[in-house]
Amino acid sequence: MHSSTSFAGSLFIVAAPSGAGKSTLVNALLKQEPAIRLSISTTTRQPRPGEEHGREYHFTNADDFIARADAGEFLEWAEVHGNYYGTSRVLVEQVMKAGTDVLLEIDWQGARQVRKQFPSAVGIFIVPPSIAALEQRLYKRGQDEPHVITKRLLAAGGEIAHAPDFDYVIINEEFNVALSEMSAIVKATRARFPQQAARNAALFAQLGIHPLQP
Ligand code: 5GP
Repeated sequence: MHSSTSFAGSLFIVAAPSGAGKSTLVNALLKQEPAIRLSISTTTRQPRPGEEHGREYHFTNADDFIARADAGEFLEWAEVHGNYYGTSRVLVEQVMKAGTDVLLEIDWQGARQVRKQFPSAVGIFIVPPSIAALEQRLYKRGQDEPHVITKRLLAAGGEIAHAPDFDYVIINEEFNVALSEMSAIVKATRARFPQQAARNAALFAQLGIHPLQP
């Protein structure tokens, strides 16, 4: 387990049922906060039209994924909607050690595994303003076959049941309100004592501020 002071960067975990508008919100947040590094996951899912290897995901096959999971390459991994998804351990640890914030867009199963290893990770759960809005967004997106949409809608209830595991909940009704709430969470997290102490060790020493010993 890592103590919260061993990394200057913060770790944000963003989860949501598909159709809650998570990716749009995260992309807008990353535009505002370019210093946050989005972790690109590896998946066995087929690329959707317009998706590029290395941009949305690293796409691979199940044999390769399982071999890498067995080798311990993933900080967490899970089966979601019938495909495997995993987060690179090396990337997250190296980026955080360098003092950069990392954002993971993963499901509740992955969030649970990450929190065990990084108890100071900040969990943000995004919910739609209604089930009807969720359904509408999934159909409007037009990226998935109808049977895939049905599968995702059924799974939404399962994902939402895990909202209480998260530190923050954002209701994505008004996009700009939701975005400013995400941004406020990022700013407040950066101002937390352990992160400030790790980033500003020289200043803290000069001021005579010493982090409490556990
Ligand atoms: P999609 O196929 O729509 O891009 O993603 C499906 C679900 O998989 C979403 O809930 C997304 O957050 C989740 N997901 C994406 N990458 C990862 C990952 O690396 N690990 C886990 N556990 N879930 C992921």
